[in-house]
Amino acid sequence: MEVDDTPDMLDISVPRYLPMSQETLKTFSAMVSAREDNLGRIDSILRSIKQDIDKYVEFIIGENMFENIGYTRDFMIVNLQSLERILISKYELENWKAIAFEIRNNLNQQIPEDPATLSNLQQYHDANDETLNEFIRRRVDEMKNSPEKDKNIREYVNKNDLYQLLKNMAFVIEKPTDPLPEEQDDDDVAMAGGVISLKDPMSLHTFKEPVKSKKCDHVFEKSVIEEYLRNEIKTCPVAGCEGRLAKFDLRSDDLMLLRVKVFEAKQQADDFEIETI
Ligand SMILES: [Zn+2]
Repeated sequence: MEVDDTPDMLDISVPRYLPMSQETLKTFSAMVSAREDNLGRIDSILRSIKQDIDKYVEFIIGENMFENIGYTRDFMIVNLQSLERILISKYELENWKAIAFEIRNNLNQQIPEDPATLSNLQQYHDANDETLNEFIRRRVDEMKNSPEKDKNIREYVNKNDLYQLLKNMAFVIEKPTDPLPEEQDDDDVAMAGGVISLKDPMSLHTFKEPVKSKKCDHVFEKSVIEEYLRNEIKTCPVAGCEGRLAKFDLRSDDLMLLRVKVFEAKQQADDFEIETI
């Protein structure tokens, strides 16, 4: 037996973590898991909103329900507003969670590496001079009062795919041939005289089943581009575009389909007006 391993008689060991810290960690864990439950709930609400919207869009497109475009626009706007509120809650919860992890790291760092003994008890004591509640309050206040807060929330909401889709649909219902605000300077968007083309660039027929290339954002009629690509990888047929495409780079473009449907419905309504004058 080595002498060095013999415990110092004066060194009265206490548990590795003081009861105070253990309690703190327990409280912390309970708080985090409650927030995680809420985040899970928010995600399931988001999924069900997405399903409702998909069903609704499928219905109005399938049934050509465009006689009352005002109603469709209101549906989009109401959903957009609820979605925004939900995303803001999600943003706040995620921030809280980030703070919670910061707290956990902080606690782990503050607790000295060595087991607590009478000789380093003061160090333990000093490490806990800011209580958990004080720390959380301070960090949450910092977050709430951050001058960047509104900008960060805006960015967070805007980068959500579902929010983008709904916002774009609400826009397209009003202005079916206008480029989206963020598309106005995009060279890949097929436009003529500031108006979005609703025609397939290869067949020049109005889109029936538009698909978008995820490589270059060009939109094509599904059957036409599939016939062109077959099972090969080819250069995008749009003049000047060097994108290399294969069938699996194509995604159905619901927004373009909505543009076509709304445009046609508006034209029919205009024709009807002219006839009745
Ligand atoms: Zn292209």
